[in-house]
Amino acid sequence: KFNTNVGQHILKNPGVAEAIVAKAHLKPSDVVLEVGPGTGNLTVRILEKAKKVIAVELDPRMAAEVTKRVQGKPEQKRLEVLLGDVIKTELPHFDVCISNTPYQISSPLVFKLLALPNPPRTSILMFQREFALRLTARPGDALYCRLSVNAQFWAKITHIMKVGKNNFKPPPQVESSVVRIEPKLGTERPGVSWDEWDGMLRVCFVRKNRTMRASWLGTKEVLAMVERNYRVWCAMNGVSIDETVIGEEEEVEEDEDVAMGGEEWGGIMDVDETGDGEDEMPAFFKEEREKMAGPAKTKSKRKKTRVAELVREKIRKVLEDVTELADKRAGKCDENDFLKLLFAFNEEGIHFA
Ligand code: SAM
Repeated sequence: KFNTNVGQHILKNPGVAEAIVAKAHLKPSDVVLEVGPGTGNLTVRILEKAKKVIAVELDPRMAAEVTKRVQGKPEQKRLEVLLGDVIKTELPHFDVCISNTPYQISSPLVFKLLALPNPPRTSILMFQREFALRLTARPGDALYCRLSVNAQFWAKITHIMKVGKNNFKPPPQVESSVVRIEPKLGTERPGVSWDEWDGMLRVCFVRKNRTMRASWLGTKEVLAMVERNYRVWCAMNGVSIDETVIGEEEEVEEDEDVAMGGEEWGGIMDVDETGDGEDEMPAFFKEEREKMAGPAKTKSKRKKTRVAELVREKIRKVLEDVTELADKRAGKCDENDFLKLLFAFNEEGIHFA
């Protein structure tokens, strides 16, 4: 009767439900968003502590179930059920978010909450264990990845509770964890454009154990993308571009895996192995692949221009001279390293959005 395709794993241990609600430190004046109330095990407990619950539920049967649970009771007026997909729903204002999250929407939900004009003061969210560990991972940790850096750009995230699979009905295949997410406010958040930050991280994390030098200078796709962005910047800033042809590009023995888009994008790893909901190849890889003749493995010869050489030199300078990050691997870099890198690229007229 439960539809596990939409993540219907009902929390059957009342102790865990109590603990999740307690961790939210609700005030009597709080409006709480609950994602996927299901049969309402968390909902009724939140209603005891908060002014109002807005529950967004995809499955009409579940929406009916939770509605029925408070019918005729005084809480009824304090529960608003919105039928639909939380990712597509325009959300009214709320103070706190609590969710035993359907795992398919883990990543989009986190970023939807954090990108709101008024993000919730606290979010207490249940995720599959590995996703929770990725969210909280620090540089050098096995699960540190682009998701970790991006989520921690926006928020302070703490792991607060492990929840075994047998606390659910039906039990999911994986263990779970509850995390707390508190948005960074004002100056706590790095003062850079989100799109640029993410655009740069996409290159750094194609392979997190690769040196920055290899990530940036070792693949034609990356060089071509940086050159294209640099040309746009020049056009916008009235800088002339030297198109002089200075020969043919050397034939580099291509790393087949990188030509395929790297391990995180359907190369040797399974699609969405990271469980972070991101399995697509970055757009620029696809575009560059399409521009280059033949299948990925074919060596292509392109004319080498002064501008291409200039871009390569700019990247080298950023990595070796300005930031001294050339030999460091993305998996070991912290937020400060990435900030330094972005500022240095920008200084050279290299942007990522
Ligand atoms: N909150 C309940 C509990 O803890 O027992 C049920 C949690 S169950 C893991 C996830 C719930 O989210 C299901 O009721 C499912 O129908 C609902 N759901 C799945 N995808 C959704 C989406 N995109 N938007 C809103 N609700 C969704």
